[in-house]
Amino acid sequence: MARIVMKFGGTSVADIERIRKVAERVKAQADQGDEVAVAVSAMAGETDRLVAKVDQVGQLYDLREYDVVVSSGEQVSVGLLAIALQDLGVAARSWLGWQIPVRTDSAHGSARIEQIEIDEIVRRFAEGQVAVVAGFQGLDPQDRITTLGRGGSDTSAVALAAALGADRCDIYTDVDGVYTSDPRIVTRARKLERVTYEEMLEMASQGAKVLQTRSVEMAMKHRVRVQVRSSFQDGPGTLVVDEDEIVEQAVVSGIAYSRDEAKITLLKVPDRPGVAAKIFGPLADAAINVDMIVQNVSPEGDQTDLTFTVGKADLDRAVQVIKEKCTDLGYADILADANVVKVSVIGVGMRSHAGVAQQMFNALADKGINIQVISTSEIKVSVLIAEDYTELALRSLHTAYGLDAD
Ligand code: ADP
Ligand code: ASP
Ligand code: MG
Repeated sequence: MARIVMKFGGTSVADIERIRKVAERVKAQADQGDEVAVAVSAMAGETDRLVAKVDQVGQLYDLREYDVVVSSGEQVSVGLLAIALQDLGVAARSWLGWQIPVRTDSAHGSARIEQIEIDEIVRRFAEGQVAVVAGFQGLDPQDRITTLGRGGSDTSAVALAAALGADRCDIYTDVDGVYTSDPRIVTRARKLERVTYEEMLEMASQGAKVLQTRSVEMAMKHRVRVQVRSSFQDGPGTLVVDEDEIVEQAVVSGIAYSRDEAKITLLKVPDRPGVAAKIFGPLADAAINVDMIVQNVSPEGDQTDLTFTVGKADLDRAVQVIKEKCTDLGYADILADANVVKVSVIGVGMRSHAGVAQQMFNALADKGINIQVISTSEIKVSVLIAEDYTELALRSLHTAYGLDAD
């Protein structure tokens, strides 16, 4: 007997027919004698619709109330799945975040899970009950409902698996595993049999939304065995594993992209100590994350252009903060550009191989794609390019690194 957490994403529970299919899958697992907890997302599109409604009511809304609204999609899907399971003769019970409870901090809209009280679920396992748990939601120290950030059901599932000491956490989704790049764009992408926690973390944080970044962090920390697999067909998916479980490691294992980027350039900023602090301090105070930064030296040497990226949603706010807070800085102009995408090549093999970045620059140059900003870490190289070139860049890089499926 094993203890398994199964997670089903929005497309997997998009309509009643699919919910019935999911119920059959869960029943098959439970029929093997396993203890099963299921984490479920809202039905496809539902969370987007709820977010749009909140946006319609007001712009500067209270995030506590945002959470009350957007967490409601999962309440519907857990109830429906529990009913579908009961229809099949499976003893199932739904659980909302507050009922377990899933304890989080108070960072409404992107709360972190701190603890999950599993005792009651475990007691019911012993009675043969399947737990159907609402993903994406929790309860803060003030007993207010929180949500975990978009895509957060993955994190609910992994956290549940960690708390339950589960043997496996299976993430069922609309692709049959983690691919070398987003299979919806790169049709020649290959499914990875295994991927390391570290690479998966980098891929997720660079935009591969197949797993939420925090779910990978959590899996890495608690050594949860995560498998990404298809809701619609059988067969093995992709296992997220330790580096020593991979026999032959490619230099580059994945290419990710993020359209959620925007570029700000400050022209002719004085080139003297303390200037960067003056710009990035107010942005940090406004909770705006800055990602890539590049500073050029102007010919005169006393002024410089400074370019950096922020999330698309923060662009207007970031420009406003700089215009308001950096009046004494003395820059010539501020330019904002939302038509950019960040493309990243990722692989732990980069640690021991030189020339990966060069290969990337060559491949992009061959296609006439201009690189606007570059950033690197030990296992990734990222470039910022014009958004219109997303598909071309991804496909060219995929071919250049020899990742194309036969
Ligand atoms: P769910 O609703 O099941 O959580 P998501 O839409 O959040 O599903 O994530 C699955 C999607 O992630 C896929 O449909 C795919 O387009 C996208 N994706 C991006 N990069 C990758 C990748 N490297 N491998 C697999 N899927 C990817
Ligand atoms: N329903 C939530 C969202 O759309 C959580 C999830 O799907 O993981 O972001
Ligand atoms: Mg998702």
